[in-house]
Amino acid sequence: MNLTKERLKSDFKKKLMNLYAESIPDSSKLHQYLALGALVKEYASEKWMDTNIQYNKRHVKQVYYFSMEFLIGRLLGSNLLNLGITSLCKDALKDLGIDLHEIEEVENDAGLGNGGLGRLAACFLDSMASIGIPGHGCGIRYDYGLFEQRIVDGYQVEIPDNWLKNGNVWEVKKEDKAIVVKFGGKVIPTFENNRLSFNYQDYEAVLAIPYDTPIIGYKNNTVNTLRLWSAETIDKDFDLESFSRGDYTKAVEHKYSVQSISQVLYPDDTRVDGKILRLKQQYFFVSAGIQSIIRRYKKGNLPMSRFDEFIAIHINDTHPSIAVAELMRLLLDEEGMSWDEAWKITTNTIAYTNHTIMNEALEKWPIEMFKKLLPRTFMIIEEIDKRFCNEVNEKYNDLQKVHDMAIISNGNIKMAYLAIVGSHSVNGVARLHTEILKNRELSNFYDFYPDKFNNKTNGITHRRWLIKSNPKLSNLITETIGNDWIHNPNKLIDILPYSKNPVFQKKIYDIKQNNKMDFAKHVKDHYGIVIDPNSIFDVQVKRLHAYKRQVLNIFGILDLYYRLKDNPNLEITPRTYFFGAKAAPGYYLAKQTIKLINTVAAKINNDSSINNKIKILFLENYSVSLAEKIIPCADVSEQISTTTKEASGTGNMKFMMNGAITIATLDGANVEMKDAVGNDNIVIFGMEKDEVMSLEKNKTYHSSDYYNSDSRLKRIIDNLVNGSLNVPPSEFADIHKYLIANNDEYFVLKDFDSYVQAQNRIDKLYKDRATWMQMSISNIAHSGIFSSDNTIEQYSKDIWKTKKVDINI
Ligand SMILES: *Cc1c(COP(=O)(O)O)cnc(C)c1O
Repeated sequence: MNLTKERLKSDFKKKLMNLYAESIPDSSKLHQYLALGALVKEYASEKWMDTNIQYNKRHVKQVYYFSMEFLIGRLLGSNLLNLGITSLCKDALKDLGIDLHEIEEVENDAGLGNGGLGRLAACFLDSMASIGIPGHGCGIRYDYGLFEQRIVDGYQVEIPDNWLKNGNVWEVKKEDKAIVVKFGGKVIPTFENNRLSFNYQDYEAVLAIPYDTPIIGYKNNTVNTLRLWSAETIDKDFDLESFSRGDYTKAVEHKYSVQSISQVLYPDDTRVDGKILRLKQQYFFVSAGIQSIIRRYKKGNLPMSRFDEFIAIHINDTHPSIAVAELMRLLLDEEGMSWDEAWKITTNTIAYTNHTIMNEALEKWPIEMFKKLLPRTFMIIEEIDKRFCNEVNEKYNDLQKVHDMAIISNGNIKMAYLAIVGSHSVNGVARLHTEILKNRELSNFYDFYPDKFNNKTNGITHRRWLIKSNPKLSNLITETIGNDWIHNPNKLIDILPYSKNPVFQKKIYDIKQNNKMDFAKHVKDHYGIVIDPNSIFDVQVKRLHAYKRQVLNIFGILDLYYRLKDNPNLEITPRTYFFGAKAAPGYYLAKQTIKLINTVAAKINNDSSINNKIKILFLENYSVSLAEKIIPCADVSEQISTTTKEASGTGNMKFMMNGAITIATLDGANVEMKDAVGNDNIVIFGMEKDEVMSLEKNKTYHSSDYYNSDSRLKRIIDNLVNGSLNVPPSEFADIHKYLIANNDEYFVLKDFDSYVQAQNRIDKLYKDRATWMQMSISNIAHSGIFSSDNTIEQYSKDIWKTKKVDINI
């Protein structure tokens, strides 16, 4: 396609006319966005078609990334970028009197995920397409994404995220590719043609409709597919049987109960909700996804016995782990394979990523619930478990061990165990996390299957998180070292020799200041709040969770505040602390923490006696598009989880790539960031893993010791509940109780002193601009290894065995 500015202008005007019969002056920004989106999709569709044709014709191995969540954000900007037409489009629209940036802001985020896990899936899709790997996403097309957060009187209020209300320009509905998914009923084993077969009776059949979204690779003609499934009733509008009985209401109820399967994303991050609807969602998209993969595979006229040579299925956490049983079911019952052959193909096809070691996040389903909803799948899991337990017993001759490792035990099905047994690869998401899996959480399984375990440290796409979100920085890098780094992000290291160059330092500094001023303007325009771009921008944005320790950050701020009250002459660089965090709607302590942040903000922001040296801003509705705005203007990145609790983190990498200095515990991928950038270019504090594990194991931590012996902590904690924060003393009684009476599960008090010292180091470092800028540049230079392009190269080579494909146009 030879797109020119003039052609784009005329295409755009035509599109606006064809869709809405409008000229530019009569059209709204919404219509302009929808017309531009439709046009961009058209520009990608030939490549999309060709990519599919060439994958099929060349019989290349394809990988399907199964995930309950894809936290995509907006697509217009990244699609323009990957098609290589951002400036062309910007200039064309400018000629027409339209600001591209304003049009981009009209797009609703596709917020089909909670946080890091869902965003990882989105980064992986971008990387697979951009490095030419035949890899697709499979998930659920939720009618409502993660709730929209409003702050009312300091409290979080959740609003449904009706992201599809203006339609979705990127998706294509493929009603002709619908799949039937069956729930409930009875399984009738019958002996036919010399083998046992399983017929289903009285089941409920649900139609899964795929909606495909193109995933455009970076300037390489590759367009992969994200296929999201939506649930509909088979008889479209009415259950005819009920209808003919005159039971109109029941028929309509049934329709809504089916549609509810793909209606809403569960808003819990890291804690599982054992609701039957969630199990239905999992089986729904896994069954539809695998059935459609098999259907396409068979069109290629290859035998099912070679399925695993051409298909890899990756499961993102245990949510899709039912894939193990579903693939078995289809190979046994539909394809007529023997157990052994089906098992070999299944385990060779499936690979599993573990995302957390936190107990409350380990998925398990009660047998009774599972059996009722998925009777045949349950039978298969029982058989897998039986055979696995036999193997374990043969190897160890130890019944306790068999019990500990059984997939089904104590009335539950343990989905992580099913995923491990039924796949050929189990990976953690950062070096430390994988070590903990191998040596502690899953040590039994590591001993049994040493070769399955491996590490794949998470990554982020540098296209969205640097090129798109920080164009000024990206342009300076290209001016300085050329553009090789765009295709090979490891080449970012080439800016390292400039880290001590005063001219380059000044340029980097100016870009950060510019980004900060832009954001300050955004905050002023949208919230009417004035912030000082000359203050240090200190940012903690991520889901709200006790282990992420937003409370430690607030305690650090309160300590500084009281020091300023005691000594108004204290010399510090003014700081603006930004928080952004959604709490799961049912997570009481997390919601109280939001109220605490806003309460402290109100108190400090309105205290003129400290001369504006501290400001606190809670950014409402943290999301991908907000992340893209705030991260490029951060000076300090807060990555302060209790060591061993954050499996990897990916926010940490986004900040590093944008030149922020990280204040961090040696947790998750922070460890690898420190190794890359060196001790002098990151500010580390807090307990290390051995100390945390030993305190946990020996139960030797007593938070009250710290409360009693540290007068700073005593003051902060007493003030939570004595009315001095201008709220009733009862408001934060539960946070108080959590920290003192319940012994502070995540060691906030223990790490407090070390954190305060680390923050003092930050203040001192920032005063020395040359040192600070040298640190900042070193971080950018070393961030390339955290591009998800590298992560995906490793998945492809070590796990999927997929080859890159050049798409010829
Ligand atoms: C990157 C990202 C996350 C993950 O952040 P962590 O700091 O790694 O927890 C969560 N939400 C959004 C919107 C993100 O972009």
